[in-house]
Amino acid sequence: MRSFNFSAGPATLPTEVITQVQQELPDWRGTGMSVMELSHRSPEFAGILIETELDLRELLAIPEHYRVVFCQEGASAHWDMIPLNLLQGNTRADYIETGYWSYRAIEEGRRYCNVNIAASNRVDQFCAIPDQSEWRLDPKAAYVHYCSNETIDGLEFFWVPDVGKVPLVVDMSSHFLSRPMDISKFGLVYAGAQKNIGPAGLSLAIIRDDLLKPSAPGTPFLMDYHSQVHAHSMLNTPPTFTIWVAGLVFKWIKRQGGLAAMEQINIEKSRLLYDFLDSSGFYRSQVKHQDRSRMNVPFHLREPSLDEVFLKEADAHGLHQLRGHRVVGGMRASIYNAMSLAGVKALISFMADFERRYG
Ligand code: PMP
Repeated sequence: MRSFNFSAGPATLPTEVITQVQQELPDWRGTGMSVMELSHRSPEFAGILIETELDLRELLAIPEHYRVVFCQEGASAHWDMIPLNLLQGNTRADYIETGYWSYRAIEEGRRYCNVNIAASNRVDQFCAIPDQSEWRLDPKAAYVHYCSNETIDGLEFFWVPDVGKVPLVVDMSSHFLSRPMDISKFGLVYAGAQKNIGPAGLSLAIIRDDLLKPSAPGTPFLMDYHSQVHAHSMLNTPPTFTIWVAGLVFKWIKRQGGLAAMEQINIEKSRLLYDFLDSSGFYRSQVKHQDRSRMNVPFHLREPSLDEVFLKEADAHGLHQLRGHRVVGGMRASIYNAMSLAGVKALISFMADFERRYG
């Protein structure tokens, strides 16, 4: 029986990449050493780091005037790094609240500045993205922060906010590399690795040159983007193994045809699943149609007492990690780049059968 992993992260990785890791792990390119044992200062690892960055730049068409930094910390660390580096003496920043993860960034931002929640969908129970006409942006804010894919609530921005001259900062963790993105519209993009990039233990930021200024006094040295850029992400020992695997994932995406091809397959997978949910009276998705994430599909059984049976039977059918996040309950199918169409079809066929038996 084939098995599929619908976890939100750490998430499923391309099988080809796992096999390649397995094959190359004991002896990296004839060095007689595993990539995990290479010094981060060795020419071999320097080559890996450069190639990984170049592949990422090619995939996203990152403009020349943006720098890429690889960080040991998870995406959460950027909630502190952003104010510490971007406030530059300003005391105000705008945040958009669209769900759990954007709220976590808000809470952290409040430690450093006056957070203006310029828009929120809390009253709509995080089911729809507030229209930009309702946003109350502060033209003097140091930056505008938003999360372009809410992993838990299942909302995705299919448009880039227009915030004038104020730098736009985005948490793209859970839909990074799922489709082409115009990096030039952002001041700073960040993402944690354990969804579409690779194993956990790494995050990355893409920062426009003019925003790279010395951070606030007292900033821990590892949290200074400016220094990280100057040290080529090697202020200390970087997560070498994770960076190597991320590089293999980038090459895998290139072999699939790049981000435009990834987008087509992601559209197909998510459409199949949402069409099925909409056609069923047994399951429901509460996110407004136009804002439904192609990566994270939360849904509920109309009869919650069946949740545990559903999860148990799904596991027995090789469909794993479908439990929704504890704050929202229900189910969630995360269908990142590495989830195959076959996986989504297997899930739908199980769900249809479950509905026939229990509906
Ligand atoms: N932002 C988003 C959108 C996420 O989904 C997550 C984790 N799932 C985080 C931030 C936090 O990431 P980390 O655990 O890497 O700090």
